[in-house]
Order: sequence, then structure tokens, then C-alpha cells
Amino acid sequence: MCRKKKAIILDRDGTLNEDQGYVHRIKDFQLLPGIIEGLNLLKNKFIFFIISNQSGIGKGYYTFEEFWKFNNHLTSQLEQKDIKIMKTYFCPHRIEDNCDCRKPKLKYIKEIISEYNIDIKNSWVLGDHPSDVQLGINSGSRSIYLLTGHGNSHLKNLEDKRINPTYIAKDFLTAIRFIVLNL
Ligand SMILES: [Mg+2]
Ligand SMILES: [Zn+2]
Repeated sequence: MCRKKKAIILDRDGTLNEDQGYVHRIKDFQLLPGIIEGLNLLKNKFIFFIISNQSGIGKGYYTFEEFWKFNNHLTSQLEQKDIKIMKTYFCPHRIEDNCDCRKPKLKYIKEIISEYNIDIKNSWVLGDHPSDVQLGINSGSRSIYLLTGHGNSHLKNLEDKRINPTYIAKDFLTAIRFIVLNL
């Protein structure tokens, strides 16, 4: 029997690293507090993925190559601390392109579920934007809205749209502790 695995599906900018908007230069890379500690607490129970909206590529602010350079920098920093991101998925399109991969659309989550045999009901989506929570809701997973990154400034938007995450956390480590309590 092949037991299904549980996933933590992470937004990137504002969730794992600082985001002053369209972050893509390594000199602007800064890991947020609690990321290493938090992911280490979960790594024996979950596998980790990143799904990120990167409309800055579609808008011409930076290239695919710059995106990967920054992303590889992030994932190698995590690897040095024994944390593996299984795969990074990203949408390079603008909103008006109406693609099928921009969060909260389900394209990448569906890929994750089928490729990695994921128990999505017991998996979590974490992010600092209402679309991250909506992604969790749309996929049938649990979700945590983070007040880091753009989280604080979009909180009213989340409430106005009545998008209800499983939990709202002031920072990453608080989110992880909530997951540990609800295993
Ligand atoms: Mg974000
Ligand atoms: Zn897309």
C-alpha cells in the first residue's frame, strides 16, 4: 500500500522572503524570521512545494532567468539547512492574460496532487495574499493567512470578500505551531 503524503504548499514572496514588491534581485533577498525553524519542525511529516504568482515576468519587470536565479538562491539557502523544496511552480502571466495557472486557479495544485500522490485534505496552503487562502479553499486543503509580507495590508480585502482561512497567523512560526497542534 502506498500511503498518501501530506504537503505544505508555500507562497514565496512575503511568506518565505521579504517582499517590497516584485522582488527578484538577490541583493534584495532576505529570508523572513522563523522559516528554517518552522520548516524543520514539519519536514518529517510533510513535503514542501512553492506556488508563486510572478506577474512581474509578464509585465517585463524581470526575466525567467532572473526569476530562477532568485528562486535557486532561496532553495539552496534552505537546502543548506536540510530543508528540501520538492518543486517550485510559478505563474508568469499578467491578470489580464486570463491564464489557467495564476493562483487561486488549481492547475499547479492538481499537478502536485497527482504527481506526488498528495492527501490534499490534510495538506496546508500558506500565504500572505487572499488568493493563497482562496487556493487552499478551492483545492479542499486547509489554509493559513500570514500577516507578514502584504498580509497586513490585504487583511481588510480578505475580510470584505469573506474568504475564511483555517487560521490567521502573525508570522510564519505561529502558523507552523498551529499546524503542529492540528496534526
Ligand atoms: Mg506573497
Ligand atoms: Zn499563469
